[in-house]
Amino acid sequence: MTEIIPTRSVGMMKRCCNAVKNLPSVVCSLSSVCANLAAIVIARILFRFMSNISVTHQAGISAISHAGISASTLAGALLRKEILDLHAYHVPDSSGCIKLDAMENPYLLPAALRGEIAGVVASAAINRYPDPGAASLKEKIRSLTGLPQGMDVLLGNGSDELIQLLAMAVNKPGATLLSVEPSFVMYRMIATFTGMRYVGVPLLVANGVEDFSLDLPVTLAAIRREQPALVFLAYPNNPTGNLFSADAVAQIIEAAPGLVVVDEAYYAFASGSFIPHLGSYPNLLVMRTFSKLGMAGLRLGFLAGSTAWLEQLEKLRLPYNVGVLPQLVAEKLLEHHEVLLQQAEQIRQDRTRLLRQLGEIPIVQVYPSEANFLLFRVANATAVFNGLKQRGVLIKNLNGGHPMLKDCLRVTVGTPDENMKFIAALQETITQLA
Ligand code: PMP
Repeated sequence: MTEIIPTRSVGMMKRCCNAVKNLPSVVCSLSSVCANLAAIVIARILFRFMSNISVTHQAGISAISHAGISASTLAGALLRKEILDLHAYHVPDSSGCIKLDAMENPYLLPAALRGEIAGVVASAAINRYPDPGAASLKEKIRSLTGLPQGMDVLLGNGSDELIQLLAMAVNKPGATLLSVEPSFVMYRMIATFTGMRYVGVPLLVANGVEDFSLDLPVTLAAIRREQPALVFLAYPNNPTGNLFSADAVAQIIEAAPGLVVVDEAYYAFASGSFIPHLGSYPNLLVMRTFSKLGMAGLRLGFLAGSTAWLEQLEKLRLPYNVGVLPQLVAEKLLEHHEVLLQQAEQIRQDRTRLLRQLGEIPIVQVYPSEANFLLFRVANATAVFNGLKQRGVLIKNLNGGHPMLKDCLRVTVGTPDENMKFIAALQETITQLA
């Protein structure tokens, strides 16, 4: 069958022929006829290979099209295996549900404050890039956080971004990120996609029962063995909700050869913090987020620590990572910090009530929490999760995520009304499944 070759491709073939014909004579010690034949054969092979990748030049822009290759084949061939093997962080559809899955603050702001924010947004210069140093917002955070002398903050587009920035910063070949398990899944995910080694040290199981405290001897041994460049400890821990012993955390900081980041995402609901100890350890940074304090939609987190660290880490921060609107709105909200703290206090009180109500359900085992959520274990957890969803309540199913979380579910503390509906739906579901 005759092959029809487009004119553009003939040009390409001729170029291939010429290239092959011009190979050094030592290599092509054939007669000129043979050389021409060989050139045509090799050029055809080259052409077949190259015709899969054709380059179009259009007004100075070159677009590459890979005819006959599907995008998924190409992605499979080009992407790193660790990325292909990862599962994307799954955010379920919550439309129409009471949303108790993501540790958000359930309260809106008072109407007067919302009016003030509307004014700030209306006059924002969104035609301009944001202040790259976010000087005014940082000043507000510094003064509210009560940082020790010589400490500063670095802002992130949520604290997720800061985890990534830290991993990129310490990621020398073979560097290890160590955390405990079960804990916040992004530590492992970010280690994986930045190409770091990840080591997860199991939390304590006492007499066959998960108690989720730090297994200090095992953790210290892992630190000695693995020499991690970076350690993350969520304080309180997600998804277990408990606050590790401050003494055990201090021993980990002292033993670690690298950076230790105490992740205080849930600080507003907890009874302890490492901010006052920042000056005591040269390898300690404290990370916080405003997401759980009523600003999840703004995406704002910060790292607090010595300027010696932050000056270096600043080099990795993308210049405009916190937008004009998040900067302005967060600043306005922090002017009214007491409103957010009152909401946090309400959530703490409601957590106590919810813990008691969950504890009263015979087949539910609920764990103590210093965060704005509760972890509980119930037989047939996935069916319970689905039953709740059918009744319009979305929580988080942790069953299958980690062996220690078998049959575990996590519920965010909502408004009193939401909590009541959750408990009613849970009781109904359990009765139905019995
Ligand atoms: N750290 C911990 C322990 C968390 O649970 C979360 C959010 N679930 C984060 C960090 C990230 O928070 P954000 O990116 O919203 O600041």
